[in-house]
Amino acid sequence: MAYKYLTTVALLLISVLLPTQTVLAGNISSGDSGLLWLVNRSNMLTSSYVPPNLCEYQGIRLQSVARDAFVQMLKSMEEDGIYGLRLQSAYRSYSYQQAVFNQREKELKAKGHSKSEAENMASKSIQPPGASEHQLGLSLDVSIDGKLTQAFGETKAGKWLEEHSHKYGFVIRYPSSKTEITQIIYEPWHLRYVGTPHSTIMKNLVLTLEEYLSYIKQINMYIFWEENCDYYFLLYSNSLPEVLPPGTIDISAFTSGETEYIITTRKSYPTIW
Ligand SMILES: [Zn+2]
Repeated sequence: MAYKYLTTVALLLISVLLPTQTVLAGNISSGDSGLLWLVNRSNMLTSSYVPPNLCEYQGIRLQSVARDAFVQMLKSMEEDGIYGLRLQSAYRSYSYQQAVFNQREKELKAKGHSKSEAENMASKSIQPPGASEHQLGLSLDVSIDGKLTQAFGETKAGKWLEEHSHKYGFVIRYPSSKTEITQIIYEPWHLRYVGTPHSTIMKNLVLTLEEYLSYIKQINMYIFWEENCDYYFLLYSNSLPEVLPPGTIDISAFTSGETEYIITTRKSYPTIW
């Protein structure tokens, strides 16, 4: 541990002292597919937001990066003897969410509730349009029997996902112990693709996306070591820098407001010296 701590300090010092490679941010497509966008009732997507790179998996639309990771994960699950995990739902457009919400509102009004009552009641069980993570095309609802129930968390598949899904870039987005933070009930079936190393850091530190973003912002910089001693360097920035650190693999906007960023670089140790 002491060795790792000292090495981390040394790496920090050297990273500060090393000349920064001149790469204009404008020349790099940040490729921000919303991996770290926080979407909820306080951070809503606009009606015009449609994620990039949508593709289909068994007739269900989602971003290709999430599809590829899901396919890879399914393969590993099957190698571990767990079969039958199905994708139930992924990308939902703003207008689809609007239609679902309106339908619920209509049903409630038909039961004699006023418009505002019905709206209030509908929003307790259904995310209003713009507030659903599914609009990102990075959220996946999965099941083994076609049902989305909390009992899924106790199944072999549910437990496997809890333990291993982070390796493929997924997190259980709404865990039972964090409902006060997410403001969403425990949903063991709802996976969110955030990509590695974010998913593994969140799993290791037991942080929800809300907490993870606040944490990185607070500490400004985070180093994540891989088992093979390569490492990721995460930097918080409140503006898109003109010059990017060498080895930058991803720039993710913090929120849908696109005003804060996490710059992720990956380096091999010790070959950079
Ligand atoms: Zn969901």
